[in-house]
Amino acid sequence: MSFPYEAPVSQSLFDRASAVTPGGVNSPVRAFRAVGGTPRFMVSGTGPYLTDADGREYVDLVCSWGPMILGHSHPEVIAAVQEAVARGTSFGTPGAGEVELAEEIVDRIEPVEQVRLVSSGTEATMSAIRLARGFTGRPKVIKFAGCYHGHVDALLAAAGSGVATFGLPDTPGVTGAQAGDTIVLPYNDLEAVRAAFAAHPGEIACVITEAAPGNMGVVPPLPGFNQDLKDLCAADGALYISDEVMTGFRVSKAGWYGIDGVRPDLMTFGKVMGGGFPAAAFGGRADVMAHLAPAGPVYQAGTLSGNPIATAAGVAQLRLLDDAAYEKVDAVSAEVRDLVTAALAKEGVAHRVQAAGNMFTVFFTDAEVTDYDAAKAQESFRFTAFFHSMLSQGVYLPPSAFESWFVSTAHDAAAVERIAAALPAAARAAAGATA
Ligand code: PLP
Repeated sequence: MSFPYEAPVSQSLFDRASAVTPGGVNSPVRAFRAVGGTPRFMVSGTGPYLTDADGREYVDLVCSWGPMILGHSHPEVIAAVQEAVARGTSFGTPGAGEVELAEEIVDRIEPVEQVRLVSSGTEATMSAIRLARGFTGRPKVIKFAGCYHGHVDALLAAAGSGVATFGLPDTPGVTGAQAGDTIVLPYNDLEAVRAAFAAHPGEIACVITEAAPGNMGVVPPLPGFNQDLKDLCAADGALYISDEVMTGFRVSKAGWYGIDGVRPDLMTFGKVMGGGFPAAAFGGRADVMAHLAPAGPVYQAGTLSGNPIATAAGVAQLRLLDDAAYEKVDAVSAEVRDLVTAALAKEGVAHRVQAAGNMFTVFFTDAEVTDYDAAKAQESFRFTAFFHSMLSQGVYLPPSAFESWFVSTAHDAAAVERIAAALPAAARAAAGATA
């Protein structure tokens, strides 16, 4: 397709980037491969807005893929970071900020009795799985097709997010040995889980699932699914790991756990808890966490784990996230969802807006999406046209039909008005798109 306008400075940065970095980006979903065109290189963010290298401003509906729940450059988060930076950037020793961040997490999420800080969501899930295997003495892991848990070798099988965006079935470089103990099942299919437990008695260390998946687009668990998973794990002696890297501290004070109340054995976190810096965590039952080094034999470590700048940003952000903040994010999310629905309906575009708390995705299909196959069956060519129309009108959406959209407390009436103004043309573009 042709693109409505040029972005010469972004284009020249992208050309330079492509010479020195594979594909010109440091994380695949940032490239516009799924939608075409030039990725926008952003230079600054304030509240709900991003400004690109060509000086164009966008309402941001990506929010750094979740973390920026207070909007960009929140003054209190920036002040906490500046204060921390002035004291030094990394000590390689324990620090008070780590204790404060761990206490914030433990206070908010009741099943988390102990927590270990790491630097990325990938590290969190990788370490949680190692711990589950070390604790149970069992090898196998159940995961669901379309769920993304970071680029952990064993978890890349049938993963969502960028893997879904690019239609990669699996990843070269992951050996049979690394993925051989991973059992991939269709999401929301309890019978498949029962059958897997029956086929591998005493072998399954854990089931890992996104608490409410956002990486094949938003596909919430069917009623009772998470509880049934937990019960099947408990009956078998396996651990139930809820991956809340995306939902944690975003959909409620206590993440998805705060919504469905299903008590995991272990949980993983990232994104929001770092306030825009690399901070992530895994935690849960104290008797399980006690197996982690140096308390126990399961090794896990990190030079920059609990970095003082990241913990300062995370603590500042979490302390600002009170009930009123979540009410605000929920309300903006509902408003934007309604506006999108109305615009697409007016043009007769088959679509379905699916939400998990304040996270949501617009699927270009009228069928309910309950698993990865259904997500892939949407008319994603319509999303491409929709995306570029919104971009050209100053609204920045995730550059993939298989991702969640995110809003923040900073998305005020003016930002919503800009989205509303862009939607009619984008809906027309979606209606007129051809495969
Ligand atoms: N788990 C989930 C549910 C995620 O959404 C992501 C990233 O999007 C990860 C894990 C990996 O986190 P990171 O990108 O910080 O490694």
